[in-house]
Amino acid sequence: MAQIQAVGFDLDYTLAEYKIAFDLLAYDGAVRKLIAMGYPKEVASFKYDPKRYQRGLLIDKQRGNVLKLDRHKYVKVAYHGLSKLESAERKAIYARSFEAQPTFSPPEYASIDTDFLLVDVCLFCQLVDLKDRFPEQLLQSYATIYQQVRRAVDLCHCDGEIKDPVAVEPAKYIYESPELAAMLSQLKLGGKQVFLLTNSLYDYTKVVLEFLLGPHWLNYFDLVICGARKPGFLLDPYLPIFRVNTADASLQNIEMGSEALAQRALSEGKVFQGGNWNHLHRMLRLQTGSALMYVGDHMYSDILRSKRTLGWRTVLMVPELCHEVSMLERSEG
Ligand code: IMP
Ligand code: MG
Repeated sequence: MAQIQAVGFDLDYTLAEYKIAFDLLAYDGAVRKLIAMGYPKEVASFKYDPKRYQRGLLIDKQRGNVLKLDRHKYVKVAYHGLSKLESAERKAIYARSFEAQPTFSPPEYASIDTDFLLVDVCLFCQLVDLKDRFPEQLLQSYATIYQQVRRAVDLCHCDGEIKDPVAVEPAKYIYESPELAAMLSQLKLGGKQVFLLTNSLYDYTKVVLEFLLGPHWLNYFDLVICGARKPGFLLDPYLPIFRVNTADASLQNIEMGSEALAQRALSEGKVFQGGNWNHLHRMLRLQTGSALMYVGDHMYSDILRSKRTLGWRTVLMVPELCHEVSMLERSEG
């Protein structure tokens, strides 16, 4: 920890832990959008089943299946829609042979690697089941259903379906985090620069962090980058950065081609939108990525890319392990 000069945090599902009511905003919103697109009215009676799925699953879009792989990419469990596949059936589809090694990669497969996607997998499996029971009502392929579910959920993130209600009543959707302020202050007292790097835009970031840290939330950070477009932020050195004027959330073009310019920009305000890792390293005056520690929940966007391409030290949030560990302790105790 002594070599770490800066500690950064992702926001959603890292600093902010969401309640099931939050998933329901996306789920119910997507159901309404699908019905408006012509999906059968039975969809309106679907119920979100949050306990059924967790991160780490893989969707086989073409077959309408959801899979759990082990670390050797062997399919341990498979469901078609809501029905579990028998071992023989599962092996007939996914067993490896020299001729045909399933790749489990896009575009045929989709990884459920953030909690945001649990809504997609639940809705997709319910629709696969509906199509199997009433094929005449859902003529499109499983893959098209997946694409339409993704589009509907994606829209909910962008059109206010999710973010407007959270802004009105954050306590209904976000868990309080009484120890967060002390943790961030402790890092600062220990001489670390503390920053936020989130894909959420400024207005939503403000809603969430005002709820978690109070009206002076900005004081806990040395630097805040919103609308970061990870993983692009970590890969594309040409992404431009903007200053966010916090009074009205308007954006202003800024130049940060050198460390001196970056320092000047930071001295005039610490909230930015977009940009890329060069801007971040310059503002933090880092000589090497290994002096930075980043905490996030997304295995690819937050962890793998930053570690592999920039040498950042990373911490992956895996709250699911709390349950696993308590089960293990119970079984051993
Ligand atoms: P993070 O703080 O970097 O984890 O960023 C999460 C942001 O991505 C939140 O503002 C989410 O609303 C947004 N997001 C998550 N899933 C989607 C999607 O499917 N479409 C658009 N935005 C999304
Ligand atoms: Mg996140």
